[in-house]
Amino acid sequence: MLSPRKIHHLFLAHTPVLIPVSRKTKIIITLGPATESEEMIGKLIDQGTNVFRLNMSHAKHEWAEEMSKRVRRQSAERNANIAVLFDLTGPSIRTGDLEKNYTLAEGDIVEFRKVGVEPTVPLSTTVNYDGLMGDVTVGNTLVVDNGAMLMRIDVVEADRVLCVVKTPGGMGSRRHINLPGVRLNLPALTEKDHKDLALAVECGADYIAGSFVRDAAHVRELREAMDAIGGEAQIVAKVEDQEAIRNIDAIINEADVIMVARGDLGTEVEFEELPILQRRIVKRCHELGTRVIVATQLLESMITNPTPTRAEVTDVMNAAYEEADCLMLSGETSVGRYPERCVEALVRISSRIERSGGHGFGQNALLRDERQKTARAAVTLADSLPDARLVVLTRRGVLANHVAMLRPRTAGFFAFTPTDRVCCQLSLTRGIRAMKMPFATNIEETIERVCALLKNEGLIRTGTPLVIVSDILSDHFAANSILLHHA
Ligand code: PGA
Ligand code: MN
Repeated sequence: MLSPRKIHHLFLAHTPVLIPVSRKTKIIITLGPATESEEMIGKLIDQGTNVFRLNMSHAKHEWAEEMSKRVRRQSAERNANIAVLFDLTGPSIRTGDLEKNYTLAEGDIVEFRKVGVEPTVPLSTTVNYDGLMGDVTVGNTLVVDNGAMLMRIDVVEADRVLCVVKTPGGMGSRRHINLPGVRLNLPALTEKDHKDLALAVECGADYIAGSFVRDAAHVRELREAMDAIGGEAQIVAKVEDQEAIRNIDAIINEADVIMVARGDLGTEVEFEELPILQRRIVKRCHELGTRVIVATQLLESMITNPTPTRAEVTDVMNAAYEEADCLMLSGETSVGRYPERCVEALVRISSRIERSGGHGFGQNALLRDERQKTARAAVTLADSLPDARLVVLTRRGVLANHVAMLRPRTAGFFAFTPTDRVCCQLSLTRGIRAMKMPFATNIEETIERVCALLKNEGLIRTGTPLVIVSDILSDHFAANSILLHHA
């Protein structure tokens, strides 16, 4: 029989963490005061972070610029493909800066006033959206801080609204405001977004996220604004309200990446709808071939606690099981006490569930063109060969993303591409490890280079079957080809 001590060892001991090369689910962390030091950024890369997010709702320009440099330096030191994501505030409604935070009790009257207007009650704050007073009516619910505080709008005037506090809480600076069910006349990009976008382009962002994207035209507007100033980033559309849900297919087709922004989405819909919406969006992204991020409150309690709650473990497990490309941490790493442990938790939970399989939504991917059909054939071949590795030769990363969307089960899945930019832009694609490599003019030499690189990294042995799929054009290499090669 096992002694109680042995049982303790078997089930309870804190197992040392090995970061498996094979982890497929990628990780985005949000930088903030808790993680801004260069040393910490390096540590988070070593722990398994793939993308660093700069939340422009909080970040000052100088700081954001410095952070992108730190991320680039630390990733260069490690020869790692790490991406930088600039998350634009979008037309989100936030309170202004407070000199001092205050607490609110049930029944208190609190004021939200236009910027530049004098307070008329002691508990007052500004809002960044002047149109608010025109859009709301008495009786509407106003939600602060992703649901932390509920209020009822009681008085609407030209310069202010007064609310009755329904649930107590604290008011701080730049708190989120939601108005569920209220149709807001907000623009797609604010003046601030245009400034932040310019900075993102200047800093060479790999991804730019648009907040409160409500239809495909908003995605196009952001992309066009970025193109106009010479940006090369891919566009992330944050789905965070009911209007976006109504236009979901068009948004998925227009964006490079979708983010299920559960913070806002969770307050804009009844909470029991959220997991259903998450699953529907993730599934639809697989079908339509767009990458997808599951974001917000994955490990919320770890802002103050060293271990996740059981519910959080299950939530992270679920997102990884749905085979989302990427999981995102916000407050957990920007202001939390345990940023490293948070990344470690995501790595442990997702690696574990990946070993026991996933939802398989990739099986339903619509194959809309020859390239996607070629990708399907390559994945089928690789998955049918024991010990095979998948190799994608890709110039812009498009074919690599098609292959990844089919969720291959192979132990190794590598993309070779000639530019750093594409390497970084594949860092949030599920399962892929990208390597920078110039293509030779003939295919034999390109394949030789691939084999040499993989052997050098200890990723394959002589004889390992490689399924090589490519749409690059070279002298002897037709478009959309699949090759089976033994290393
Ligand atoms: P935010 O977006 O953190 O910028 O609000 C994510 C979300 O709403 O979940
Ligand atoms: Mn949001």
